[in-house]
Amino acid sequence: MNPKKTRIVIAGGGTAGWTSAAFLAKHLSKSADITLIESSDVPTVGVGESTIPLIVTFNDLLGLDEAEFMQSVDGTFKVGIEFENWKGDGSSYIHSFSRPGREFWPCNFFHYWLASKPNCVSDYEKYSTATMAARQNKFAILPNRGLVYAYHFDAAKYAQFLQTYSVKRGVTHIDDFIESVNLDEDGSITSLSLRSGQAIEGDLFIDCTGFRALLIEGALKTGYEDWSQWLLCDSAIAVQTRSTESPKPYTRAIAHDVGWRWRIPLQTRMGNGRVYSSEYLSHEAAESELLSHIEEPIREPRVNRFTTGMRKKQWHKNCIAMGLSSGFLEPLESTSIYFLQRNLIRLVQLFEGDDISFTARDEFNQQSGKEMVAVRDFIILHYKVTGRKDTPFWRHCTNMSVPDELQHRIDMFKASGRVFKKEYEVFNDFSWAQIMMGQGLMPDSYHPFVNEMSAQELREFLSTIENSASRFVEGLPSHEDFIKRFCPHPSPPDGC
Ligand SMILES: Cc1cc2nc3c(=O)[nH]c(=O)nc-3n(C[C@H](O)[C@H](O)[C@H](O)COP(=O)(O)OP(=O)(O)OC[C@H]3O[C@@H](n4cnc5c(N)ncnc54)[C@H](O)[C@@H]3O)c2cc1C
Repeated sequence: MNPKKTRIVIAGGGTAGWTSAAFLAKHLSKSADITLIESSDVPTVGVGESTIPLIVTFNDLLGLDEAEFMQSVDGTFKVGIEFENWKGDGSSYIHSFSRPGREFWPCNFFHYWLASKPNCVSDYEKYSTATMAARQNKFAILPNRGLVYAYHFDAAKYAQFLQTYSVKRGVTHIDDFIESVNLDEDGSITSLSLRSGQAIEGDLFIDCTGFRALLIEGALKTGYEDWSQWLLCDSAIAVQTRSTESPKPYTRAIAHDVGWRWRIPLQTRMGNGRVYSSEYLSHEAAESELLSHIEEPIREPRVNRFTTGMRKKQWHKNCIAMGLSSGFLEPLESTSIYFLQRNLIRLVQLFEGDDISFTARDEFNQQSGKEMVAVRDFIILHYKVTGRKDTPFWRHCTNMSVPDELQHRIDMFKASGRVFKKEYEVFNDFSWAQIMMGQGLMPDSYHPFVNEMSAQELREFLSTIENSASRFVEGLPSHEDFIKRFCPHPSPPDGC
């Protein structure tokens, strides 16, 4: 017997809309009919080009050929993020996706390193294969996740790629403007009325209308939790430039007097952006500062204003917010597309057909809420522990009080170097440690378990790890050569 199919209506066709369409078409093809409505009169946000490693698994779940995907989206590989000048002294550190050193169950590897009384924090890099690879512009896809990676890509090409994928798998695509959202007496959505006059009915609605949040907020008035008291940046300017260097296998996040600037290398161009607080910096000053640091733009700069925070419920009534309509954390750790993908995986895990239970909704909201709060704290950490006090913006950040759980984490790390990954958290203990030490927060002591090794054993142990990391990196090809072999862009880079 074929059960009745759930009518899923996706409003919006940016990264969130087409990622949702592709994933649901792949995994719910027998139980759902999927329609996506977008208006070519309403532009997409046009940014979102740096990711974290879940995307590799997510693409596997879509059954994508990695080389074909990377060719189609102008892709490059990413092993982490380089944070420059976050201590205000021009120094930099890398937050890599791979665990540095070697795993020990009672404590992190860095306790061993601390016991060796290193002179400076950058000394830690030589024990991390991923960081060493990044520093030398090297990359390869290795068996057993030898190097954990994510992607950089062109956002417009990404949405186009997923659109082709979705339409091939039976998603109905409507280009029309959503004029109104119709509700029943219970307040659930029944249909969307379009400018052409038709009304599209559905059982489950996915709001992918971006910051406008037409369904989840415009119609359902779900409410928003505002986090801008801790994350002051509320504006971003994005601009694309020609590439004048071989692509680095990492995103760059460069701190400025107010906020920071990104560099995202693609095969044929560079993505650049400036994230800042409009209370501390004017748009004109932010734009001229950005343009003074980059190559010749190939497009007009685009401005985005945002309020950092989260929709009070990601799933309300029969509507789920995906992408920017669900909330927004600035792109410092490239997490928005991650939340989108996690929520889609979660939706498929909880999907029960059109008989939507309260328990499924509650579970979805609890899980996604906890996850987003944990990432919020991780991002606040970058601002709080910098030790920068050179401008009013940084003084505000370093002096502000932070959520209790984050303060507890900072205190525990400072006292004893202990840090734990919590349930539903995407960032690992070693990510927290890399950021805290990279930003200048060094533990006062190391774990006594380290003393089980003699001083001689400790020296030998550390030098074995260092040598094996450097041998490993020596054997890797350059990132550029790897791309040329594995997934070269079909046309030569602009200007060649
Ligand atoms: C400055 C900035 C930098 C970012 N960097 C990163 C990053 O590095 N990594 C990362 O993971 N994420 C990043 N993000 C987030 C990422 O860009 C978004 O998560 C992603 O693009 C999803 O956007 P969206 O599809 O929700 O919204 P949008 O791209 O805004 O799409 C909205 C869609 O809704 C449609 N629409 C709206 N109103 C109507 C209507 N009335 N009728 C019909 N259609 C309508 C539009 O046509 C469009 O198709 C960044 C975001 C910003 C603002």
